[in-house]
Amino acid sequence: MKKLALHWKILIGMVLGVVFGFIMLQVSGGPKIIEDWINPFGTIFVKLLKLIAIPLILASLIKGISDLKDISKFANIGLRTIIIYVCTTIVAITIGLLLVNTLQPGDGVSDETIAKLTETYATENAVQSKISEATRQKDSGPLQFIEDMVPENAMSAMSDNKLMLQVIFFAIFLGISMLLIGEKSAKPLKDFFDSLNEVVLKMVDLIMLTAPYAVFALLANVVASSGDPDLLYALLYYSIVVIVGLLLMIVFYMIVVATITKKNPFWFLKEISPAQLLAFSTSSSAATLPVTMERVEEHIGVDKEVSSFVLPVGATINMDGTSLYQAVAAVFISQALGFDLTLGDQLTIVLTALLASIGSAAVPGAGMVMLVIVLESIGFPADKLAIGLALIFAVDRPLDMCRTVINVTGDASVSMIVAKSVGKLGKPKPKQWDDHYEEVK
Ligand code: ASP
Repeated sequence: MKKLALHWKILIGMVLGVVFGFIMLQVSGGPKIIEDWINPFGTIFVKLLKLIAIPLILASLIKGISDLKDISKFANIGLRTIIIYVCTTIVAITIGLLLVNTLQPGDGVSDETIAKLTETYATENAVQSKISEATRQKDSGPLQFIEDMVPENAMSAMSDNKLMLQVIFFAIFLGISMLLIGEKSAKPLKDFFDSLNEVVLKMVDLIMLTAPYAVFALLANVVASSGDPDLLYALLYYSIVVIVGLLLMIVFYMIVVATITKKNPFWFLKEISPAQLLAFSTSSSAATLPVTMERVEEHIGVDKEVSSFVLPVGATINMDGTSLYQAVAAVFISQALGFDLTLGDQLTIVLTALLASIGSAAVPGAGMVMLVIVLESIGFPADKLAIGLALIFAVDRPLDMCRTVINVTGDASVSMIVAKSVGKLGKPKPKQWDDHYEEVK
């Protein structure tokens, strides 16, 4: 296995995990064995990635900003990033709406299927909890989002992965202040964060050694805990529409990367593929973030000044896959339940899906919570919300895995584009996990 590239090893782990999951589904008590004896290894892997996310964001963002030497550069990078993120998300939603309106996957769903899906899922706790979570988020005021970004306690912000934007805020604040006290006084702190940054990236390398085994466990568990295959089959057409949309997004990124950065788009995909495969296996862009950062910086050559801001911010606010999915899902549910949408409604979907993707947490299933808000914004009857969600619940996990790949690919492409536009796209400089190993073993 040693000579095989990492992405091949991960891919083999994934395929074996799926096969093993299917085999265990046939064995009595098989899913329980996977849950008890296999799944913990996947969970440990995801925990390890999450463990290093906050130190990595902190160290790399502070290093990135304090390397700038000039605050206006940071404002420049920040503005470009946000504008490009909004543009790519609008493209994603538009692709989703065009596809779902032309292919009309909701029209072919029979009343029988709707009844069966409703009966199976509408009262499920998971569906109900997504609706109440959405109500909680919707009840907050328009500026709540900005208010939430500012922590009142740096330590408690760092103690919760969900508060990533607060950590970003703190790191930017600290980094800018370091610039303002001058190079000499800031040096000790800067050296500390430089070193922390290198150490955490080494931790990413070490964790990635176990990735092929971890994805085996994660995928075996996904297969073993998947629902009734008949229901999955009934939603096949809808799933295909979402997946075609997501694939078109990959094509879009490839075109943009090729035209703007003049790099080979296949090379780009190959270099970030380990991050994509992990996004698929974990369904979480937040858990994938350390690997995305490592790939983009070391293997693609984006300067830390850019990646350290663009990627963590992207993981939290830029979710192209999720917003495309929300557009398709909202229209699909409306079609299936005979709720007519006007052009105005479709435009409302564009706007709310955009805001929803900014507000979605980078964790599994978050997109579905925001879907409730999108549905409510077009006046979807409240009493039918649970039925609407029940319709797509069976395939949410597999589609979540696919849309997370796009979320991560989108962030990586934008980091390349921003880097190119500010002259910070350099040569790749990959590090191996065992550099210096001989000296310390
Ligand atoms: N799982 C997605 C992510 O982490 C969010 C979602 O679409 O549910 O990027």
